[in-house]
Amino acid sequence: MDEEEYERMIQRCLRCSICKWVPQIQVKSQKYATICPAMDEYNFHTYSGGGKIILALSYHLGRIGPSDELRDIVYKCTECGGCAVSCKFLNTLEPLEIMCEFRERLVKDGCGPMPAQQKYIEAVKKVNNPYNEPHESRKEWLPKDIQTDPNSKVLFYVGCTASYRRKEMAIATARILNAAGIKFRLLEDETCCGSPILRTGVKDAFLESMNKNLDAIEALDVDTVVFTCAGCYDTFKVDYPLHRKYNFEVKHTVELFDELIQDGKLKLTTEVPLTVTYHDPCHLGRNAERYEEWDGDVVELMPLVNINIPKKPKRCGAEGVYDPPRNILKSISGLKLNEMERIMEYSYCCGAGAGVKSAFPEFALKTAQIRLDEAEDTGAEILVSACPFCSTNLQDAIKEKGSKLQFYDINELILMALGMDIKKVKEKAAEVA
Ligand code: SF4
Ligand code: SF4
Repeated sequence: MDEEEYERMIQRCLRCSICKWVPQIQVKSQKYATICPAMDEYNFHTYSGGGKIILALSYHLGRIGPSDELRDIVYKCTECGGCAVSCKFLNTLEPLEIMCEFRERLVKDGCGPMPAQQKYIEAVKKVNNPYNEPHESRKEWLPKDIQTDPNSKVLFYVGCTASYRRKEMAIATARILNAAGIKFRLLEDETCCGSPILRTGVKDAFLESMNKNLDAIEALDVDTVVFTCAGCYDTFKVDYPLHRKYNFEVKHTVELFDELIQDGKLKLTTEVPLTVTYHDPCHLGRNAERYEEWDGDVVELMPLVNINIPKKPKRCGAEGVYDPPRNILKSISGLKLNEMERIMEYSYCCGAGAGVKSAFPEFALKTAQIRLDEAEDTGAEILVSACPFCSTNLQDAIKEKGSKLQFYDINELILMALGMDIKKVKEKAAEVA
């Protein structure tokens, strides 16, 4: 966002507070009418999307300066994008983009990121992953009986969380690819996608990660890169092209596996008699909508009232990946899908994103507990999603609450429907953990 656009945007917040709520027409109950985890937790306007825009304006005008208090408020936000979708229901602002830009500005002024986030950024610089795990053990999740093909045109980009913390997701993905007869390769030297760095506003370290990955991938003859992590997928699909174009296709596994099921290449023949509810990860849903290029003019009709000529496309989250995971679940015989109230672009965040899980773990956990309540209210026995980060945070909430709900990654349900023993996949993951 250039200086002119940033200035224009931060002046145009109407203080209407729509960004705190699911758009009225989508609200199904008072209990689940809110969209902003930061507002739910801290219950003060400053923490909302609009409140943070007022802070950005005050900071820009020099009315407030860098401080620990300011930093805490700005970083108590999962960058889930809920406010951005709701705002655009009536307005045309980009609260999420403003917040990202504001964080970058704070970092430049030495007022960010949070110390815990700085720690994991240093780990990425040193060992290519935010968990500070040895780079050499990145592929330890890979079972010996999985077939990879070093000449394949399909690359499975595993990501740090599935490689080190949610190995069962990496194993399940690889087993499904094998079962469908899709040859795939892994990167010899995979490095963090940079998402957890980018979201904190540390641009130079993010660009370093992005360039390492794109240099490594472009040195290979691949035409498709597949992701099982929503965060990696969103970063490659939406953020990388804003800085560097590439010429391969990106797909989340839910998109690929949905296609394979529709084409009859993946046959889900085993009945899975479970009632599930699906959590839309923000990075697979609303935030995975690409930016449409716009090269128009902003015409000022009167002070603070502008129109875009031609009309600027609104990025409202409707182009996120919503159907493929639901198609997969509906393809599994015996499985029943009970939807939560807040779904698709109006989904409620799991609470882990944008460095919140590291810097404010209690806020992350409480947000996941709110989502867990909503999942429980559907009467489902299984909470399913498609992101290792959501997986970790929602499972932490399940443990903390002692909930009867169980969590499965969607690929684990596919494995069950393929007739594979899911317990063995989990045991294998535990073995190499
Ligand atoms: S991005 Fe999410 S947590 Fe942050 S202000 Fe917007 S709705 Fe709230
Ligand atoms: S960010 Fe958008 S929805 Fe929120 S107060 Fe400002 S104009 Fe209203």
